[in-house]
Amino acid sequence: MKFKRLREKMVSTQIEARGIHDQRVLEAMRKVARHLFVGEALQDQAYGDFPLPIGEGQTISQPYIVAEMTQALELTKDDRVLEIGTGSGYQTAILAELAFRVYTIERVRELFITARKLLDQLAYHNVIAKCSDGTLGWPDESPFEAIIVTAGAPEVPEKLVQQLTIGGRMVIPVGNRWSQTLFQIGRDKGGVHKTDLGGCRFVKLIGEHGWKEG
Ligand code: SAH
Repeated sequence: MKFKRLREKMVSTQIEARGIHDQRVLEAMRKVARHLFVGEALQDQAYGDFPLPIGEGQTISQPYIVAEMTQALELTKDDRVLEIGTGSGYQTAILAELAFRVYTIERVRELFITARKLLDQLAYHNVIAKCSDGTLGWPDESPFEAIIVTAGAPEVPEKLVQQLTIGGRMVIPVGNRWSQTLFQIGRDKGGVHKTDLGGCRFVKLIGEHGWKEG
């Protein structure tokens, strides 16, 4: 099948070739049908080395970025993950392949509804989704072993750090409106430590502990 071949090629040339080595991540990226997460007119481009528009001024991240962020979460089968910025639901599906349960939050209702429907159709029963401001996290379900933020933040929201377990990992792009640095943040007994994973460019994280709207 055409899309399966494109997916294999995406993983070998864009992801493995750039040093992503976590076999579980590579396997999930080979499995999840990325073309289903974009509009029909864009399906043929879904396996290209770039982000694509998903409506409402938002984008589905470039495949390599999805792989890099997922690897940095160091997920095990028992982990509960919080995702901020469901968007198309593609990153959500990748996480659902690798973790015990995924809690995902999207602020734009149209995107939330479309992603929820698709994830249900694909039988991702370990995904719990809600439409709200993710910069507040999900206190009732916290703490999480892993937190991923897929929109660019002006700073690391303290509320999210508080919702990480001791030993937990967060991946988040932090910077100005035009460019950010991707950070892996680890929480241990002594506090938090940050690792710089390099430059990136995301749409804005908008909310109480993010950018203001407009
Ligand atoms: N991971 C997504 C990327 C979507 S782009 C994918 O693979 O398709 C980032 C998303 O974050 C957008 O859909 C945007 O609406 C959402 N977003 C921005 N600020 C948010 C907030 N405070 N809470 C929840 N979602 C937010």
